[in-house]
Amino acid sequence: MQNSSLAPEAAAPVHYRIRPLNPAAHQFEVTCVVACPDPEGQRFSLPAWIPGSYMIRDFARNILSFDASTGEGPVSSCKLDKQTWQCDPVEGPLSVTCRVYAWDLSVRAAHLDTSHGFFNGTSVFLRVEGSDEQACTVEILPPEGEAYADWKLATSLPRADGTEEWQFGLYQASNYDELIDHPVETGCFETISFEAGGTRHELVLTGEYRTDRQRLAEDLTRICEAQIEFFGAPAPFSRYLFLTMVTGDGYGGLEHRSSTSLLCSRKTLPAPGALEVSADYRNFLGLCSHEYFHSWNVKRIQPAVFRPFELDAECYTKLLWVFEGFTSYYDDLFLVRTGLITTESYLELVGQTVTRVLRGAGRKLQSVAESSFDAWSRFYKQDENASNAIVSYYAKGALLALCLDLHIRQETAHQKSLDDVMALLWRDYGQPGRGVGENEMPEVIERATGVECASMIHDWSEGTGDLPLAGLLEVNGVRLTMRSADGIRDQGGKPSASRQTTRSPVSLGVVAEGKDGFVRLVVVRTGSPAECGGLAAGDLLIALDGMRVTAEGLDELLSRYQPGDVVRCHAMRHDEMREFRVELTLGEESTAFLDLVEPDAVTRWLGPKAARERASG
Ligand code: ZN
Repeated sequence: MQNSSLAPEAAAPVHYRIRPLNPAAHQFEVTCVVACPDPEGQRFSLPAWIPGSYMIRDFARNILSFDASTGEGPVSSCKLDKQTWQCDPVEGPLSVTCRVYAWDLSVRAAHLDTSHGFFNGTSVFLRVEGSDEQACTVEILPPEGEAYADWKLATSLPRADGTEEWQFGLYQASNYDELIDHPVETGCFETISFEAGGTRHELVLTGEYRTDRQRLAEDLTRICEAQIEFFGAPAPFSRYLFLTMVTGDGYGGLEHRSSTSLLCSRKTLPAPGALEVSADYRNFLGLCSHEYFHSWNVKRIQPAVFRPFELDAECYTKLLWVFEGFTSYYDDLFLVRTGLITTESYLELVGQTVTRVLRGAGRKLQSVAESSFDAWSRFYKQDENASNAIVSYYAKGALLALCLDLHIRQETAHQKSLDDVMALLWRDYGQPGRGVGENEMPEVIERATGVECASMIHDWSEGTGDLPLAGLLEVNGVRLTMRSADGIRDQGGKPSASRQTTRSPVSLGVVAEGKDGFVRLVVVRTGSPAECGGLAAGDLLIALDGMRVTAEGLDELLSRYQPGDVVRCHAMRHDEMREFRVELTLGEESTAFLDLVEPDAVTRWLGPKAARERASG
């Protein structure tokens, strides 16, 4: 069905209609019709945030106009706060029409131009206060004009009778929570279909790219099948969409109950004819695996405080180390378990995560539980001091999951693992069940595995000490080695690439990037030579001892110095040239890599055997 117009009697208690008003001006027109408005005066609001992305975004700031009416004529309204409107009392159907500005090319909001339209319900669909549990229908229309005749529509929102697959027309949701959990992509996208665990899946690709469709379908099938088997078939959805926007350098993903919105760089898609898994493609597969795992862990197994979501304001939980951290552990683990990447490639990823965590002094100030609680104002609002001040509940949470998995395996002679914890969470807290209490994880782990770990979990999640990674890895046949960084681009995960083995290089203790032919200091680490010498984040490093500095040449320049040497640094701060004297020290050994020492031991942890034992037990 294309461009239909609905008979009013077809509408549910709440009916929406959305159409691109003017793609070139990035505006949607959204109408909401309430059959029986509140006799005291109907209130409408828009969420302040979107579930899965824990930051107040004030989506209502993009509402350009708000006009209420009945069949009798216009209805007066007033605004009660930044995101709430109140209409005067009326009888009979009340209609509100808004124009919504949509120019945010991310997975979190809405984006419209002449090439495509994308929206999350949180950006466009007004909440009818008091009617959250009412069923609703939504008519989705294409832009007007011949130029848009080929546009199609992709969403996991259920279709109403009469609407064909991939077509504009009438869709429906059983409540507001469902309405806003199915993003919609429209335009001339390409689809790649595959079946996994008896369920239809589609990869929807928007943008400019050249890739190997067959390979994408095969590789995603392996990830999806493995995860469905992990939690137990059938999948908790009847169909799943990977809505993917391909751009030059985008990256992001947001989980939903039957779909995910992804933003990826075109270089991360596999090139036609390529056989290896490049580091870029590994990132894309990891992103898909991460968002898909969320279909269970956070969309259905949830913190109790998320049931229901408070969408007007922050919704605090200490548990994102479970919902994001455990998901970050399993995303790459599924790549190695399914054989998409080698054990060595997996260990490289773990080494990079260890490096990210250990390079930040913020881990000594903030626990993962605090990082989770403060996600709204700190993790999601990172500035130049973030790595000195906070720890990531993703990265350290993933390492916590790794330690917990290895600890459970050690305590139970590999009879139990973190997989059993996930299985119990799914059985007792997934589906209609109940949310996970803020302090309930130790008990959940003990119930699932018999391993008592309350004080250990308390130390790991609420404490700021480093996790006992090296010892736990060693028991499982893997050696963790620390070294100093090879230069400003070294992400860790591999042995040193430099042939210089006699001593570690000196370091300024900064994160830096090339800028206008010079070096911009992005982060100045706490206690580093740069900080002690007076350099600050944002400074543009011009010269060391009178020699020009470039991003490419900085490491070579520093390699000529010894620990204890004092170097004269010229830097621009704002528009002023400053001079600093920096005493160089040995680079901190905070770059990690892992080697496989005993392949047999590692197979018990990473190999397919572990998964099979769990499934049969
Ligand atoms: Zn996530």
